[in-house]
Amino acid sequence: MKALVAVKRVIDYHVKIRVKDDGSDVDLSNVKMAMNPFCEIAVEEAVRLREAGIVDEVVVVSVGDKACEEQIRNALALGADRGVRVDFSTAMDAESMTQPDALTIAKLLSKVVEREQPKLTILGKQAIDSDNNQTGQMLAALLDYPQATFVSELQVTEQGITATREVDGGLQVLQLPLPAVITTDLRLNEPRYASLPNIMKAKRKPIDVVKSEELGVELRCNLLQLSVETPAQRSAGIKVASVTELVDKLRNEAKVL
Ligand code: AMP
Repeated sequence: MKALVAVKRVIDYHVKIRVKDDGSDVDLSNVKMAMNPFCEIAVEEAVRLREAGIVDEVVVVSVGDKACEEQIRNALALGADRGVRVDFSTAMDAESMTQPDALTIAKLLSKVVEREQPKLTILGKQAIDSDNNQTGQMLAALLDYPQATFVSELQVTEQGITATREVDGGLQVLQLPLPAVITTDLRLNEPRYASLPNIMKAKRKPIDVVKSEELGVELRCNLLQLSVETPAQRSAGIKVASVTELVDKLRNEAKVL
């Protein structure tokens, strides 16, 4: 069976985020970018399934401009077989849409799923830049496929999937028929590092580019980002001499008692 994995290019999670001086957006100039960590887990899971002989092809898809081919190449170096980039940049109306919203991404991905016909589609549970946690759910709904989100354990057979989900206060085990959509939680696996020979091999693996217009999706954005600001600086703490003074300050200054 074929597995399709959606990967997003985001700011590397080690980088300290800077906001533009006018507060309009995050400053992306000269910032190190990387594959969204939950997407790395998705790639790792698909590659493990191929190594176990359950999946026979792993296709990686990313929606974005030419730069996100870097993240597709990373996924190919981790073991994926080929890549697809959905290019939306040319059709984008810069005035009304600075970046596509999750519904637009899900619509574009649904067209790629219709073309590729994977039995299993794996996404990260959320992108660490937008923190939307929406795309996988919307994709499954658009396709009318069953979905298991926040998956921390996965068994796949030709007949279907058994997925363990991390929910508040415990674990939920679900059985799903295929084709299905799953989104990955942190504990699903620990992604490998790409070896140098695999990085070299990945350079020869194909990446198809599909224009968003070809997929027949109307690009719309229902959200307008008004402003972005950095979290308030934490004010300095104080030392108290006794428990009595602590209780007094908590009661009369912080007013939390
Ligand atoms: P989000 O719903 O934006 O938090 O993203 C959840 C997941 O959707 C990500 O981990 C990716 O698997 C997928 N995704 C989001 N944006 C993109 C994109 N531009 N290209 C490919 N996959 C994406």
